[in-house]
Amino acid sequence: MKKTAVFPGSFDPFTIGHESIIRRALPLFDEIIIMIGYNSNKRAFYPLSKRKEWIKKVFVDEPKIRVGKYEGLTVDYCRKVHAQYILRGLRTAADFEYERAIGQINKKMHNEIETVFLLTLPEHTAISSTIVRDILRHKGDASQFLPCCLDISEFLDEPEEF
Ligand code: ADP
Repeated sequence: MKKTAVFPGSFDPFTIGHESIIRRALPLFDEIIIMIGYNSNKRAFYPLSKRKEWIKKVFVDEPKIRVGKYEGLTVDYCRKVHAQYILRGLRTAADFEYERAIGQINKKMHNEIETVFLLTLPEHTAISSTIVRDILRHKGDASQFLPCCLDISEFLDEPEEF
């Protein structure tokens, strides 16, 4: 059976930390669907269409990657796309505690879906979308934290209404 993993997140914006987890997970799965979760009540910094376009650009040469969007529970999306795995990255003990609870509850709800965790590379531990967003918001240079194929000037555009 085809092994499909969903990598859920807000990716606002997508960073080299996200990219690294996905590239390292590629040998483990036949397909990875990067799922951009969205919440109509929550205002995002970058519009969904931009986030999707950037992620597609990063993985343009990678046939195992698909990019999707979803509003709702990650487990429901997994069932919809027939994914058996949820992929998550772990940076810190705080990440672990947060992810442990969600992973255990997801397992209780849908026993057939397993959450797989990869530890972040040490050099990516401090990188978060929140910090990168703050740098960009204040017109700082965040290029070293963004995937190299992305044109940094695109990130400097004033974000539109989500
Ligand atoms: P969420 O809003 O669900 O936390 P994010 O877009 O922040 O979504 O992150 C999606 C996934 O990527 C999560 O599993 C998160 O732990 C992981 N991640 C985020 N930043 C990094 C990083 N610097 N290194 C490794 N994994 C990361």
